[in-house]
Amino acid sequence: MQISQKKNRKRAWEDYLDFFYPECCCGCGQRLLGSENTLCGRCMEQLAYTCHEKSGSNPLAARMKSLLPIETAAALLRFNKEGIIQALLHQLKYQNQPQIGIMLGRIAGQRLLDSPVFGSVDFLVPVPLHPKKLKKRGYNQSLLIAQGMNEFLGKAICPELLAKRISSQSQTQKNRIARWENIKENFDLNPEIQQEKKFHNRHFLLVDDVVTTGATASRCCQELLRIPGSKVSFYAIAHPD
Ligand SMILES: [Zn+2]
Repeated sequence: MQISQKKNRKRAWEDYLDFFYPECCCGCGQRLLGSENTLCGRCMEQLAYTCHEKSGSNPLAARMKSLLPIETAAALLRFNKEGIIQALLHQLKYQNQPQIGIMLGRIAGQRLLDSPVFGSVDFLVPVPLHPKKLKKRGYNQSLLIAQGMNEFLGKAICPELLAKRISSQSQTQKNRIARWENIKENFDLNPEIQQEKKFHNRHFLLVDDVVTTGATASRCCQELLRIPGSKVSFYAIAHPD
């Protein structure tokens, strides 16, 4: 079969799918236009950017640096309970919508591309999920975000550097102190990988979907700081500041 025939068939099949199963915006539910992907133009305009990446000093970086000797921290968007980002993160985590993670990661990657603060990052490290949760969800949303970022930043992703050890109760069911205690013992640096020289004296960027108390991020950063000569920074998609 000629290539042009194959292409025509593929396009006809895509038109058929689009007619019967139109792709809808994950923010407002409206049908997407041909040029739009996952989120419509109107919803895209409503995303509230923090602009943290333009400077090393922001409220999230200040809080994280007060806890650990990290380089910097930043979030892409302001988390607002009624906002689009709340709906997007909920669908990403609980409604099997992995494309949202990739899309948010791409936006983050584009914005970090010219950032003077994050330019020296060598590796992206997604916050790990416990294997049981990974099996239930089908994907690690932080890894998807890192993959989207990687499309623009071209940095290697290291999902195997950290592991989550024991299953924890739903974070929303716990108060702040209990949540911190619950997190405290949960993340481990992979000792075999830690020994690999290619990871020594490098700058690691920990990637997460949302940061609230900072307990998860701090615990993971603490582990990454155990790698000889490591520098560590943190990046989240959303932060309630
Ligand atoms: Zn929309």
